[in-house]
Amino acid sequence: MPKKQPTFYLLTLGCPKNTFDSEGITEMMLQASYRSTTNPRHADVLIVNTCGFLQAAKDESIGALQELAGRKRKGQLLIAAGCMAQRFGREVTQQVSGLDGLIGTRAWADIVPFIQNLRAHKKPEPLYHLPETGDTPLETIALNRQQVELGRASAYLKISDGCSAPCAFCTIPSFKGLNRSRPREHLIAEAQRLQAAGVQEIILIAQDTTAYGRDWGEVDGLPALLEQLVAAAPEIKWWRLMYAYPGHASQRLIEVMAGHPQIIPYIDMPLQHGHPDTLKRMRRPHNVDKLLGWIESYRRSLPHAVLRTTFIVGYPGETETEFQGLLDFMATVEFDRAGAFTFSPEPGTPAFDLPNQIEPAVQQERWERLMAFQQPISLRRNQQMVGQRLEVLVDGVGEGVSVTRSYRDAPEIDGFVVVEKELPIGAMVPVLVTGAMEYDLLAIPADEPILVM
Ligand code: SF4
Repeated sequence: MPKKQPTFYLLTLGCPKNTFDSEGITEMMLQASYRSTTNPRHADVLIVNTCGFLQAAKDESIGALQELAGRKRKGQLLIAAGCMAQRFGREVTQQVSGLDGLIGTRAWADIVPFIQNLRAHKKPEPLYHLPETGDTPLETIALNRQQVELGRASAYLKISDGCSAPCAFCTIPSFKGLNRSRPREHLIAEAQRLQAAGVQEIILIAQDTTAYGRDWGEVDGLPALLEQLVAAAPEIKWWRLMYAYPGHASQRLIEVMAGHPQIIPYIDMPLQHGHPDTLKRMRRPHNVDKLLGWIESYRRSLPHAVLRTTFIVGYPGETETEFQGLLDFMATVEFDRAGAFTFSPEPGTPAFDLPNQIEPAVQQERWERLMAFQQPISLRRNQQMVGQRLEVLVDGVGEGVSVTRSYRDAPEIDGFVVVEKELPIGAMVPVLVTGAMEYDLLAIPADEPILVM
């Protein structure tokens, strides 16, 4: 009888950077002859790629592990991988009984031998593989990601990992280490493989994409990298940029974006706040006028430019005046999209010990005010799209409509363009925008006759 192929179930929590790492894990498991399953009951190995940069993310990861542990069959292995496993280590096993192993952010490339070790490990206590130093395994990712990418229209490309910024509230550098950029030739080869696999949109991700090359002394490496990527993979229709850091975003970046229509005029730039005093306490770039100048130049050079950001409200010492300053800043910039978190005091960060921590009720009230403040702005900016033609990428279909995204929408983060027709998944089609809501747009295929009632 042929030997049964072992199966694995992988649950990914957190941000697109984790999604990218999960693709690396998947690739390695497939190459080691494991089969992927979406049903945890059928899996021999259960892996949760956890998120743990905030308490809420930790709680979600613990909850997912506890649920899988509660239904674990005899012989199944349960593994916690990723950020929460790295950050909290042994503490996780106290909260999840039935966990067989923990593998950290710097070690996931060892997932296959780690599973072999777990199989050989006959003791009840879990195995740990959580190195505290050393590179993240970006270079160990097999460059041929075709198995993962085939049939996909959109793919992430992680250009670096770790972060060297000093933000006072952030735990990421403590468990991801300092910024380390991937060599250009690796990124080019990977982009070309994604192109050959039929990918249409490549999304550049990192903790800070604008820090690309700084670890080897290149101060503004991202624009040159973008130029090289676009030249090396000319059939990629959309290059999208996420996680830009305001202190590193340059004029040259705007010029390169303006000079290459394939680099879509979309930037996600988490700004965290808009008041200089709060930004100073956050240890973030706090020259708000300089930032406004960059945004003005970005929008002037790219007339259809989209700007997404994220803020933290209720940071220690945030006065009502500072919060109002943030709202004023939002009114001045009119971001196309803005998300927000309430501040979470994370042990080990400088912000944890800051005086004047804000009461949760005040944080929540400010969060609600901020979200309500942004809604009419988002709606207004969406309404400006009505009557315009847009190219959209079809993500899903059903019941007479297609769920699509335009260049204005990053997957799983922004809204959709809902098109009144079933279109082939993965196709890029022109549409005419007919309606706007706060988050989503409505459209019809651009070649359909418009019904005038
Ligand atoms: S730039 Fe982002 S990832 Fe880096 S320390 Fe600041 S908040 Fe954390």
